[in-house]
Amino acid sequence: MNAEQNSTVSRRRFIVSAGLTAAAFGLAPSYLRAAPQTLVEKARQSGASAKINTQTLRGNVSALIGSGGNIGVLTGADGKLIIDSGYSGSQKQIADALTSVSSDPIKHLINTHWHFDHTDGNEWMHSAGATIIAHENTKKHLSTTTRVEDWNFTFPPAPTGALPTKVLTADETLRINNATLALKPYEPAHTDGDISIYFAEADVLHTGDTWWNGYFPFIDYSTGGNIDGMIKAAEANLAMVTDKTIVIPGHGPIGGKKELTEYRDVLVTIHDQVSALKKQGKSLDEVVATKPAAAYDAKWGKGFVNGEFFTKLVYKGVGPNN
Ligand SMILES: [Zn+2]
Repeated sequence: MNAEQNSTVSRRRFIVSAGLTAAAFGLAPSYLRAAPQTLVEKARQSGASAKINTQTLRGNVSALIGSGGNIGVLTGADGKLIIDSGYSGSQKQIADALTSVSSDPIKHLINTHWHFDHTDGNEWMHSAGATIIAHENTKKHLSTTTRVEDWNFTFPPAPTGALPTKVLTADETLRINNATLALKPYEPAHTDGDISIYFAEADVLHTGDTWWNGYFPFIDYSTGGNIDGMIKAAEANLAMVTDKTIVIPGHGPIGGKKELTEYRDVLVTIHDQVSALKKQGKSLDEVVATKPAAAYDAKWGKGFVNGEFFTKLVYKGVGPNN
């Protein structure tokens, strides 16, 4: 193998690996050069050394950032309500962070969707006292063997204790800790089981993975996600917020309407370019070669999904009618 072939191979390996990478999973970039394990295994392994950054937001709502998807916490006399459970390898750090927020016992856990970086901690949180609430399709994917092609990984069914026991398919309102929580399923977007949670009095919204603040989002076509749904979800999120709303994204820093708007615009711009080219009959390789995400790659492509991979995710979902 000559140097050029070698570099082509490593570049390709880099791009494949970049399907899931550094920032979103809190991994050092050197991880990209190691590669014996699958991305999912590596991400899970990172949980053991994850550092949790706890942010107090408003009205007894906090966020724990650093192990998989961002975790939301509501404290009070009814016990803690937690949104998403991170990696199981971070149990100690997450438990310590939860204790530092308040001494209330863990009582409720809501999963924004089924992905491992949001649900691997379900089993221990359930053992600690949480009743698990999620979309019906989240329970379905966690209950059965589920493959995600873009991660090249097949997930076995989750243990019984990790499964949601209360499921929803339509809007639902919960009243816990003197707070009103609006749970709202999206149309299929990042997966087919995404829900948002809005804390009405605190005016805090958790979007799950329908929003990645500062990163191109992953779209899981294997379990029902698609680019059109991602754009509709971004619009739905914008419709739910004002300039004062604090928004917890699935990945990336806490933000608000301004950052949500920027994200929506990036998705729409790249979607429109890719869609126009696909309608002209351009192949995936031809569209990728035009680099429709190039203008955003430096800022948005540093995490889990780079510009090329995002272009492929968009191409997959656009058709004659969109
Ligand atoms: Zn996800």
